[in-house]
Amino acid sequence: MGIVVQKYGGTSVATDELREKVTQRVREGRASHDIVVVVSAMGRKGDPYATDTFINLLRQAGNPEKHDLDIVMACGELISAAILATTLRQSGIKAQAVTGWQAGIVTDSTFGDARIITVRPDYLRGLLAQGVVPVVAGFQGASDGGDITTLGRGGSDTTAAALGVALGATCIEIYTDVEGIMTADPRLVPAARVLNALDYSEVFQMASQGAKVVHPRAVELAMQRHIPLVVKSTMSEASGTVITNTVLYENKLGKTVTAVAHLAGVSQVAIATPADDGTLEYEIFRRLALALVSVDLINVSPEEKKFIVESKDVPIVYEVLRDLSFRIVHKPDCAKVSIIGAGMRGVPGVMANIVLAMRESGVRILQTSDSHLTIAILVEEKDMERAVQALHQHFKLDHE
Ligand code: ADP
Ligand code: MG
Repeated sequence: MGIVVQKYGGTSVATDELREKVTQRVREGRASHDIVVVVSAMGRKGDPYATDTFINLLRQAGNPEKHDLDIVMACGELISAAILATTLRQSGIKAQAVTGWQAGIVTDSTFGDARIITVRPDYLRGLLAQGVVPVVAGFQGASDGGDITTLGRGGSDTTAAALGVALGATCIEIYTDVEGIMTADPRLVPAARVLNALDYSEVFQMASQGAKVVHPRAVELAMQRHIPLVVKSTMSEASGTVITNTVLYENKLGKTVTAVAHLAGVSQVAIATPADDGTLEYEIFRRLALALVSVDLINVSPEEKKFIVESKDVPIVYEVLRDLSFRIVHKPDCAKVSIIGAGMRGVPGVMANIVLAMRESGVRILQTSDSHLTIAILVEEKDMERAVQALHQHFKLDHE
């Protein structure tokens, strides 16, 4: 029997009613496959067993060490796993909660944003051989030294994909609170449509540009082994989005833009430098890398280095470059808005259309960058929603 990994997000396991839905899906899945379940912490920010609640609890005690913070952050998924395993057993399905460590997820030691190094799925295989459904606590693993680590926001998706790869799964299913991957975040664009079939590379771009419906690393992992990734709703019967690598050349003719994504909470940094042979440039980017500050929308010219960072990293930028005495200015409260589409490659006039859409909606473009699947613009955060809506409309994403 093939294996299917089913991942349920926080809102999908938050209530009895929803856990009943999950039970039903596990039961249905078991008719044809061995099922491995991966869960996130129950609920969202503000809920009693959500990860943020635990973080706040710890912060009340003082300024926590990263090591301790990861132990606390791993709790939400552990609770969730035990509750869902119990719920499944209650309805006659053999199930057991499994920690990230038990599931064999070995990571590096980057607390809070650890990378999976390898997966040793023997324990899971043992459970499956006994007809038990493992309910794995997502978002966490352990370093080879035995420290508990977490995988960063959205990390349960990565857990699911990594287990899918390690177990040679037939399919990785991501169950969430929307009916699939849509042309834009429906919270910003009510007219957004579900996309039934997408290519890994497009979804990877969308996720990297801020569409938090699935984690980019999960897409990358599934892509490496060509395992289909399906994003669908826990509640509804809709078929969701099937992500494979067969879509590109069949369906994309005539459609340039597939989706719009957005990322708030970024700041633009501009550093004035004396023109030199590149030594200073190297020094700037080397120091930022060492401080683990990730930079994006990078524009380098002889007199100026411009890029964006997450706003929380702005003080670090000033700190690590202080002794170089460059003039640094930053613009807070920015957002990156991107259009993504495999059909955009080599099509002229896309930028002109973006500029037109922004002019018509009165949004100022602060900076741009592009790759072959994506064009990103930086705008003020207050304009973000308008920009996303305008692009969605301008590129006719609400039509089939
Ligand atoms: P989960 O807890 O199930 O992992 P997330 O909150 O991480 O759920 O992701 C689902 C949310 O992603 C949706 O509620 C939606 O607001 C948001 N989202 C952002 N971009 C998109 C998109 N392009 N398509 C669908 N949902 C999106
Ligand atoms: Mg998520």
